[in-house]
Amino acid sequence: MSSISENLCQLKNELPGDVTLIAVSKTKPVGDIQQAYRAGQRDFGENKAQEMEAKWKKLPPDIRWHMIGHLQRNKVKYIAPFVKLIHAVDSLRLLREINKQGANANRIIPCLLQVKIASEDSKYGLSEEDASSILQSGVLAELTFVSVRGLMGMATFTDDDDQIKREFNYLSKLYRDWKEEYDFSILSMGMSGDYAIAIENGSNMVRIGSAIFGERS
Ligand SMILES: *Cc1c(COP(=O)(O)O)cnc(C)c1O
Repeated sequence: MSSISENLCQLKNELPGDVTLIAVSKTKPVGDIQQAYRAGQRDFGENKAQEMEAKWKKLPPDIRWHMIGHLQRNKVKYIAPFVKLIHAVDSLRLLREINKQGANANRIIPCLLQVKIASEDSKYGLSEEDASSILQSGVLAELTFVSVRGLMGMATFTDDDDQIKREFNYLSKLYRDWKEEYDFSILSMGMSGDYAIAIENGSNMVRIGSAIFGERS
């Protein structure tokens, strides 16, 4: 059995230097995060606001906390004071709430728009059209405590690598089309099972959990 630090070390050797590794620590105990921290890892991903807040309180202040999961509007307040990046923004209403809580905490909160690229019904995310209309509407100029930095997506859970590749490629093209105009710098795609395909298709931020910490129960 390999340890958390060995898994991290192996991943770091494998990932290109310009790809940011988010260690997804959801459901895992603080001790596991401390092991990864001691191995030099600073970016961690959680998918529940209160779990993230509880861990933030117990762990070193230089950890960068990424909210990677679907975020309910009434939970934004728990993470607004410290969250580094909110990956899965999928509505204008959520953006408005993040702006409000950013104003309360007196900080600009970096966000990504989640675009639905998977074929499954269960995956959250905006359509290309809805993402485009948020970006074009001019409303972001009013939301001065929110900064949209790029896009996030999750591929279909499948063994069909060609399908995963097509989905990532689609998001990557959208990202490149919008990058200049909206000053994007982050394309968050790729998990334990598909990060290699994601990177081949232009990802610069991968969210990896089980390949570092082991399977979740
Ligand atoms: C859980 C999760 C991950 C990590 O999944 P693994 O397969 O364990 O690497 C990545 N992104 C999101 C949005 C997740 O919810």
